[in-house]
Amino acid sequence: MMLDKTRTRCNRMPGTNDCAMGFLYSLGHMPDFSRSCEQLPGFEKGKESRFARYSIALFCLCAPLSSPAQNGLPYAAPAAGQTAARPSNGQLVSRGIERRVDALLRQMTVEEKLGQLVQYGDTGDAANTALADDAQGPGKNPETHIRVDPMELATTGRLGSMLNVVGAERTNAFQRAAVEKSRLQIPLLFGADILHGYRTIYPIPLGLAATFDPELVASVSRLSAREATTAGVRWFYSPMVDISRDPRWGRTQEGAGEDAYLGAAMARAYIRGYQGTDLSRPDSVAASVKHFAAYGAAEAGREYNTTDMSLSRLLQDYLPPYKAAVEAGAATIMSAFNALNGVPSTANPFLLRDVLRGQWGFDGFVVSDYTAVMELRNHGVALDAATATRKAFLAGVDVDMMSHYYDTQLPALIHSGRVPMSDVDEAVRRVLRVKFALGLFEHPYAQGREVTAAAPENRPLVRKAAEESLVLLQNKPAEGKSSILPLTHGPHRIALIGPLADDTEEMIGSWGDGHRLSDVVTVKDAMEAREKQAGGAVLYARGTEIDSTSQEGFAAAVDAARKSDLVVMALGESTAMSGEGGSRAHLDLPGNQEQLLESVASAGKPIVLLVFSGRPLVLNWAAEHVQAIVATWFPGSEAGAAIVNILYGDVAPSGKLPMSFPRAVGQEPLYYNQLPTGRPPIHLDLSKPPDGDSRFFSRYIDVSNDALFPFGYGLTYTNIDYAPVHLSRNSFPLREARPTGARSLMTATTTVKNTGDRTATEVVQCYVRNLGASLEQPVRSLQGFARVTLQPGESREVSFDLGFPELSFYNNAGQAVMEPTHYTVWIGGSSLAGEHADFDITP
Ligand code: BGC
Repeated sequence: MMLDKTRTRCNRMPGTNDCAMGFLYSLGHMPDFSRSCEQLPGFEKGKESRFARYSIALFCLCAPLSSPAQNGLPYAAPAAGQTAARPSNGQLVSRGIERRVDALLRQMTVEEKLGQLVQYGDTGDAANTALADDAQGPGKNPETHIRVDPMELATTGRLGSMLNVVGAERTNAFQRAAVEKSRLQIPLLFGADILHGYRTIYPIPLGLAATFDPELVASVSRLSAREATTAGVRWFYSPMVDISRDPRWGRTQEGAGEDAYLGAAMARAYIRGYQGTDLSRPDSVAASVKHFAAYGAAEAGREYNTTDMSLSRLLQDYLPPYKAAVEAGAATIMSAFNALNGVPSTANPFLLRDVLRGQWGFDGFVVSDYTAVMELRNHGVALDAATATRKAFLAGVDVDMMSHYYDTQLPALIHSGRVPMSDVDEAVRRVLRVKFALGLFEHPYAQGREVTAAAPENRPLVRKAAEESLVLLQNKPAEGKSSILPLTHGPHRIALIGPLADDTEEMIGSWGDGHRLSDVVTVKDAMEAREKQAGGAVLYARGTEIDSTSQEGFAAAVDAARKSDLVVMALGESTAMSGEGGSRAHLDLPGNQEQLLESVASAGKPIVLLVFSGRPLVLNWAAEHVQAIVATWFPGSEAGAAIVNILYGDVAPSGKLPMSFPRAVGQEPLYYNQLPTGRPPIHLDLSKPPDGDSRFFSRYIDVSNDALFPFGYGLTYTNIDYAPVHLSRNSFPLREARPTGARSLMTATTTVKNTGDRTATEVVQCYVRNLGASLEQPVRSLQGFARVTLQPGESREVSFDLGFPELSFYNNAGQAVMEPTHYTVWIGGSSLAGEHADFDITP
């Protein structure tokens, strides 16, 4: 028997007083308090100068406790050891780099300095959003009529970075202008939205999260870095680490789903893959962790919408992945479009200065999201370009992406003293640090032979990623077998139906812009090859389009089903239905695809349903009527090959859901780690409408509370048994529970056994509940996981160390704390894990 020790890690933000105060200040929840701050020396209303902010923080620290208490929020002293390590990445802040930065800064003119703080694409559009283009309406960007010439800017040293410039020829052309013609020869930094592969495409990040395999995520991230650097790209706008508990939000597909612990593990893996241990290697890229912060909590799942939440929720459920990425050494951060508690993230000193730089010690630079500085006017917090610029810059946004504000507005702001030159120098320093750390001054151009297509040697890795990302949601008996999948190896006559069975474009996901369509393997390609070899046949019918009302193709699809032994249906969303600007109010299969499914089902043949999507969908009818369902997300270049390998059992499914699949859109936001209520509907049959006494519980009258398929859930082709959970002790005293104390306070162990006849990999999950704390705690929350491969009949012991990071919680003063409370620990194969044990922390 092997012992598999899973060392879990802390991903939480240590809390302090000024953090909480900054938060309250940023909330605007303290109007009286802010008014008193106006009396402070150096405070200028609406101008968040560093002096004023620090004065406020100082005032907060010295103020009588009655101030915050008046706001109904507690206030407490910071616990020992709750401050961040500095620097966040030793590679960015070495003595050598600081010397080189100082030398360069001394030579730079103001214009050259500001150049480092702006970023354009190579089209020459200064700000090309529809909003910005209309200069007439209120809050629109008047500067948009000024077209920029990025080549001229690069040549004259007035451009620091560029986005989405495609191919080595283009990047090298701009780079030549910067390093061969400009006065100080400072290289440009080329950034691109490479989130799940450059030429060889792997699953969308939500699919990667379903692998629960950080090592794999690090490997594919390294792969895309290796490919993209051959085109001169040294900066990825990735990872997107926004936690999302609402699949209506289309950008759900770019992140790791609903859980902070899983999100943090994925965030670390991306950084490890992109940046490696040596940023200066020509095949390493700087990461841009986005979108800071809490963008994924957009109200009603509507894109760019506002977010509003308590401090404890922000720290406990939304910030951990960003913090994990910073701790892993992320070189840059992108500020988000959304407002948090009324303060736009792109002008939010609490987020950018207090938390990111103050608490976490971040030493890289912050770039705004696309035209987000300009959008401060639309948010209504700036009446003009100058104010938007000043607010964003003083809040801590170093680089202006595409607003064309920093270069046009900062000169006058500096001249009038409203933006201190020392702050400009600091921002330039942060940008130059990253350029030096990347070794751009030594090797500014695209490296090696340019990768222009999916590389054969990279296919096995992206295929493995796609296989691991698939989640088997249902597998019922059929054809006299106990379950329809895996298919036997003998010849079959398969009807392959649906708009996603043979569409190369739709296998990719929304950010795979560098791919060639001819590199993509579809399900039809792979299945035909397989059946041809076995002497079987595939009868293909498209059936309908992804979003159509026409039933023209239905008859041919039903006919194909009738002539076959088995039906495989490839249904779901197009890639454009999720991603940026892809919010949906409905979560069903789009168009008339469900009607197609119902028609095909009338042929009476067993159905395997492949669901392609960038989010959880509502699949009630399918769950009731089809034999097998596989969530495939958007799997990438090797889509068809991976899916077929899973269907035929060459590889056992191992993916688990990173987000809950709802029964109805009205349940959203639906997530497993909810806070409890005073009226939990325990022991009620929620599938039936309430009668009499069963009504007055926290429930719906028309749908169950639970998910159709919950977080952490996923089947495989064997049975995995879990033995009872064993804890290393039943209690321990509170004095042992210190942030800086022992790494492990408690070890929870179980034995998992493969009782079936196939090899499988199980994602063993550890969940914790804390009962009796001063603040409500989730009904359970993930605090550890491990992928364990088991041969038929094999058992393994799996242990999880639980320490302060796993057992503490954030209070509303922003502190991570433990209290003398009661804990339950579950270990199992999903968030519904049943095996558990309990322990106490004694006073
Ligand atoms: C998106 C970012 C992206 C940027 C640059 C924005 O619209 O929100 O995620 O990195 O554009 O393309």
